[in-house]
Amino acid sequence: MHKLRKNVWLLFIAAVFLSILLALAMTVYTWDKHFFAIKSDLIHVHALAENYLSAKFGKLKNAFQLIDKADNNQDQVSLILSTFIDTIDFDRNSGTSFFQGHLTFDRDYLEKQEPEQVFFKNSFYYPAHKQWVAPICYRFNAGDTGCFAIDIKDLTVLFTKGTKTTGIIHVISTTDYWLIHNSSLDEDQFETLYTTNMMRGPLGKLLESHSKTIKEEIGLSLDEFLAGENSHSYKQRLRTGERALFNFSTMPAYKIFIASGYTYSEIWRQFLNYTYGIILLTIGFNLVLFLLFRRYDKLNEMHRLDLEYKSKHDGLTGLLTRRASEQMFMEEHPINGTHLFAAISINKFNLINERFGHHVGDLLLQYISNYLKNYCADPCYLIRDIGPDFFIISPESESDKIELAIEHLLENMRKPIAMGDVILRPNIKAGVFRGDLSSMSYREALKCVDLALWKAKKEQVNLYAYTEETHELVLQRSRIRELLDEGIANHEFHLVYQPQVDPKTGILNGIEALARWNCAKLGFIPPDQFIEIAEESGLILDLGRELTAIAINDFKDILAKTNKEFTLSINFSIYQFLSDTFLNDIDEFVGNSGIPPKLLTLEITESIFVEELAYIKKLLLQLHERGFHISLDDFGTGYSSLSMLSKLPIDEIKIDKSFIDNIHRSRPDYMLVRNILAIGETLDVKVVAEGIEHSDQADILKKHHCHSIQGYLYSKPLPKDEIIAFANKNSINTK
Ligand code: C2E
Ligand code: CA
Ligand code: CA
Repeated sequence: MHKLRKNVWLLFIAAVFLSILLALAMTVYTWDKHFFAIKSDLIHVHALAENYLSAKFGKLKNAFQLIDKADNNQDQVSLILSTFIDTIDFDRNSGTSFFQGHLTFDRDYLEKQEPEQVFFKNSFYYPAHKQWVAPICYRFNAGDTGCFAIDIKDLTVLFTKGTKTTGIIHVISTTDYWLIHNSSLDEDQFETLYTTNMMRGPLGKLLESHSKTIKEEIGLSLDEFLAGENSHSYKQRLRTGERALFNFSTMPAYKIFIASGYTYSEIWRQFLNYTYGIILLTIGFNLVLFLLFRRYDKLNEMHRLDLEYKSKHDGLTGLLTRRASEQMFMEEHPINGTHLFAAISINKFNLINERFGHHVGDLLLQYISNYLKNYCADPCYLIRDIGPDFFIISPESESDKIELAIEHLLENMRKPIAMGDVILRPNIKAGVFRGDLSSMSYREALKCVDLALWKAKKEQVNLYAYTEETHELVLQRSRIRELLDEGIANHEFHLVYQPQVDPKTGILNGIEALARWNCAKLGFIPPDQFIEIAEESGLILDLGRELTAIAINDFKDILAKTNKEFTLSINFSIYQFLSDTFLNDIDEFVGNSGIPPKLLTLEITESIFVEELAYIKKLLLQLHERGFHISLDDFGTGYSSLSMLSKLPIDEIKIDKSFIDNIHRSRPDYMLVRNILAIGETLDVKVVAEGIEHSDQADILKKHHCHSIQGYLYSKPLPKDEIIAFANKNSINTK
């Protein structure tokens, strides 16, 4: 996963984690609050019950007092009762509470009670009414006792409604530990429970275990605890086995104690009611968070993919760039097996841009790219390099189809095509290479196809297929590249000189300096090989300076030892001409030597002039001012030889060997050279012919007033000593 994406999701996980932490903190806080509320509720039960009882029992006491005063007058007693029965009603229908008059039971017990005191007596079954009742008694001053018996269901109402609690309430008499009321039992259960001996039954166990706790925690015995106003919270296991939290508090005034409690399941149930909210809130929050993050991640990812796409694809054609393809095939998805690699390039594309504008160049690139896209679908790749170069990589299975498509393209492009409002006839070249990628790297394969393309351009063929020899050439070129610096540093270069002769007189009128390299490691390397590599690598500037220095030195020596006047032609690469230091270097070398500049001819190849025409023109004028001669080498092979002649201050043209080769046996070639010589005459430019191997060629040139000829016919390029000897011979027989 992409790093940014990973970070976004890590942030999300952190946010989820934080929200869960927050939810946990809230839960813990809620639990604390809830538990506190439960405990307060249990304690509160006592207060509310006491208030309720004091209100009801106050009225009961009044009633009992009035009954006492009525002194057994049954009519009065009935009246009092009917008046009070409504007011002492325990909230249920008044008819269900009843009065039992002057009950006299368990006298011993009742007599022990203080007079004028209302208190509970243990509940019992009242057969006349088929009901469980709780008697509320009163000790009259005279010693006897009155009693109300109330339905235990009323007690339930009293304690649950009066105390507003949903928990369990036991009301137990402190005098004999009889259970007066148990809110968690219905009538039948109450009966079973009540009729068992409480002290031996569950209640006994409860009191027994808790009297121990009370002793330990408060330091009071159970009796002492029950005699005072005391309250204590504890955990208890119910008869059902359930655990519950209880508050145990005494009410000495009514001779009862109240145990109010909640089962833990109830506490949890209530607590969960609150936590559901927190859980839902957390889930909801995280869901929203997730949706937001997912949306953000999607947008981010789309943006990233878009940027990535743009960084890997060429904006003009939408094709994969060469750099991106290298990264893809070398790192991400290496390809294996035999593939066809094709390179397609528009020759002199910059001329199209310069002449017709970049929009026309762009249209041409799009045209070619669209043409190729029709054929190069998956599993083939179509790639665009910087400038006018395209690459196709196709598996063996598709290679015939692709080669055919390229041939069609080259064929089509031979005819003029309309690009916008311009008619073009682009010169397109292609190189192909078949290679097994399991035995070579992607980069090596690209190098091979580059080389095939280079060969196609160099040999002016439409399509060049890479061969083993080309491969050897690649190796040789890379070896040369590696040894070039060393060769320059170790002064492994020297110059040889080829004579230029006036065909009329046979007199030597010039020599051309030609570079030679005896490489310590590779042996002799011809200039055709190393000059181009030096130009590509930029080393031509160092090499050029070294060669110029040798040439000037040698020439000084040659002149001194021949005592004749002839010119020296030195070859310069266009890169030397364009370098900032060129003029200074020349001034320095020539100035120090004392050689008059008019004896020096600077040869420059014309094919790349167009690109820097204005600059070159200024430079040539400056050289002219100093007295140097300028020669246009390889005349006729470049693009715009003739227009160049009228635009630049040129003194000499050198007709390329390829035009000379057949002048003695091909009429068109002969006519062409004759015309060049005529133009030279018209423009007053000296014409030199090179590569003369036959005397027939020399004769024709002589006849048409060629100023100077150079070639194996007279001499191959010679080392310094030999050229001195050559010059010292007076003249050459030119018939
Ligand atoms: P160029 O300047 O056109 O040089 C003429 C080439 O033709 C020389 O090849 C020369 O040996 C060859 N040549 C001359 N007469 C004949 C002939 O009758 N028959 C045949 N087959 N060849 C003939 P060379 O010395 O191998 O140089 C090749 C090219 O390398 C030169 O072409 C020039 O472009 C470049 N070069 C040589 N020396 C230098 C140099 O010092 N500086 C620069 N920049 N380029 C150089
Ligand atoms: Ca030359
Ligand atoms: Ca030449």
